[in-house]
Amino acid sequence: MDIFTAIFLLALIVEMVIRAPLNKKRKQEKMSERRVTNQEMTILGLLSLGGFFIPLIYAATNWLDFANYNLPDWAGWFGAVLIAGALYIFWRAHADLGLNWSPTLEIREKHELITRGIYGMIRHPMYASQWLLAIAQPLLLQNWIAGFLNLLVFIPFYIFRVKAEEQLMLERFSDQYRTYMQKVGAVFPKF
Ligand code: SAH
Repeated sequence: MDIFTAIFLLALIVEMVIRAPLNKKRKQEKMSERRVTNQEMTILGLLSLGGFFIPLIYAATNWLDFANYNLPDWAGWFGAVLIAGALYIFWRAHADLGLNWSPTLEIREKHELITRGIYGMIRHPMYASQWLLAIAQPLLLQNWIAGFLNLLVFIPFYIFRVKAEEQLMLERFSDQYRTYMQKVGAVFPKF
């Protein structure tokens, strides 16, 4: 396995370690609203394929070797810098969102609108970190399938998810969320 594939897999492990304690704690939470459609479950399944299972197959077998390409070293290292940034944002977002985090669209009974910390800079830091990871992936996994599938699935996921999520937040927090949207950008900070 080359160094860039190893860096990518390490990043996936770090993400799991960051998420594990929240995943455990949130099982005891009572939800007041859950919006999980079949379309959403399909797209989440495809995301785990492009972001996890295909990269594992790429790393562990030679089945995808026919689709390999070669980039200069600096491109791989640039991918490593992007993924380090993605992990930092991912970690901050989990620390600030706490138990309000959910892998799907859910509102807790005790849901709190978070606008502090990294949520004071951008509204969707977890998705911003997923953008960075998906862009870093073809630089680290130099393969047309393992590198690009995640990005291909993430683009429609992002478009549908953000729309549905903001709808949900507006219904629950109305003017408070509307003001937040005016002040704070989605994945780029507003200056
Ligand atoms: N879009 C955010 C959160 C993703 S997790 C990000 O990219 O960081 C998805 C869950 O987070 C949804 O169920 C939604 O209810 C919740 N959520 C999104 N923004 C929030 C906020 N500012 N405060 C509290 N909960 C939020």
